[in-house]
Amino acid sequence: MKGFLKRLRPSAKNTIEPTIVPRHEHSISRAAIHPNALKVLYRLHDAGYESYLVGGCVRDLLFGCRPKDFDVATNARPEEVRKLFKNCRLIGKRFRLAHVVFGRDIIEVATFRTHHEKAHEQHGKSSQHGMIIRDNVYGTREDDVWRRDFTINALYYNIADFSVVDYTGGMHDIQHKLLRMIGDPEQRFTEDPVRLLRAVRFLGKLKIQPEPETEKSLCQLSHLLEHVSPARLFQEVLKLFQEGATALTFQLLQKYHLFERLFSQTTDVLDQPETKKLLDEAVISTDERVQEGKTVSPAFLLAVLLWRPILQQTSHFQTENLPPYVALEKAIQAVFHTQTKQLSIPRVLMVSVREICMLQHQFNHRHGSRPYRALEHPRFRAAYDLLLLRKKSGEPLEEITDWWTAFHLGDSVEREKLIKTANKIMGPKRRANQFRKKRASRV
Ligand code: ATP
Ligand code: MG
Repeated sequence: MKGFLKRLRPSAKNTIEPTIVPRHEHSISRAAIHPNALKVLYRLHDAGYESYLVGGCVRDLLFGCRPKDFDVATNARPEEVRKLFKNCRLIGKRFRLAHVVFGRDIIEVATFRTHHEKAHEQHGKSSQHGMIIRDNVYGTREDDVWRRDFTINALYYNIADFSVVDYTGGMHDIQHKLLRMIGDPEQRFTEDPVRLLRAVRFLGKLKIQPEPETEKSLCQLSHLLEHVSPARLFQEVLKLFQEGATALTFQLLQKYHLFERLFSQTTDVLDQPETKKLLDEAVISTDERVQEGKTVSPAFLLAVLLWRPILQQTSHFQTENLPPYVALEKAIQAVFHTQTKQLSIPRVLMVSVREICMLQHQFNHRHGSRPYRALEHPRFRAAYDLLLLRKKSGEPLEEITDWWTAFHLGDSVEREKLIKTANKIMGPKRRANQFRKKRASRV
């Protein structure tokens, strides 16, 4: 296997006979394919086009997982696809794709494209770092296969005879639970460094091992992420934490030095036991949520990831005699400023992260109507979850977490009682001092 792909891959003149795996030799059943995807596949086929399921859905079905979505590949051009489906729109400038829309469900239909080396003289384009910036050139199925990233992502399920078409040894790698880059790993990671993050995502999600040559490049090439736009990185990072394998993915990101390229400030405080504990607890609870079918809030995850750097900056600003609230606000700003250079986090998300962090401060104020206001805040649940994680990670927050747990679960009588006990704990003098300090800080 080793060297086989390197020799054979993109040389366009080399025609390689694929292995055709007949229906009785693989596990993909039509019952597991979404009816909308089958509709699209059959209509293309009946109109005389080649029609395949391809990419992640074939991989996931063979691994026995439920695919997130179903992608179709065909030799029909996007305009031809549009003619076949009333419910079809063409999207994308860089890659022209057809979306066949069934209510909220979309089946993406891509015309076979060729690998950029072959396309190069025509329309393909690379940057000075060897990255592909445009590769929208139509090709055949055989061309299409070599531009894909990993062998397990390059299998074609043929609706004509229900066979799986395998050019790269993907079936072997699925059986042996191996992640293998198609072609020369160093070159392919360089062409598109996002593949480094995709590799980690598949290793974590599918619990498979990297093939040694692929792993060697994974270990050495984290610096390439510098050349990827922060917006694209952010999209990939979101996916990393939504597969239900966050704990393993987090370990792998660190192992391959990718985490520091995404969250440098968090990496700087990772040697603090509280940071490690906080993140370990957070990834475990994230995976539990996904396994229970719940969603994971990106704002919550970002707040967890950035909390320790924010706390460190807050202490720094407090040494400049700023009141805690102001110090926290300034710390959030400073940490966001640095973070967005690595990942461009949408503004609306940043606002939520900020609110979750600011609520950590507001949790200290437990008199009058303030606890009620905190409780009604749309970010209360996420902020409370962060508070619990902080306690678990070793911050001295026993009393305050118990109080908030009782408060948010309690009825109105109990809540009033709790506010009275909190007043006693804080004492009128301390409250008055806090009030004075706050007023002074506003001036
Ligand atoms: P997911 O389960 O997240 O959908 P996926 O493998 O299907 O995983 P997509 O982004 O949907 O990922 O891409 C579909 C297919 O397109 C992949 O399986 C792969 O064959 C190809 N592909 C996607 N991104 C790249 C890339 N950066 N480089 C090469 N091929 C890619
Ligand atoms: Mg997909």
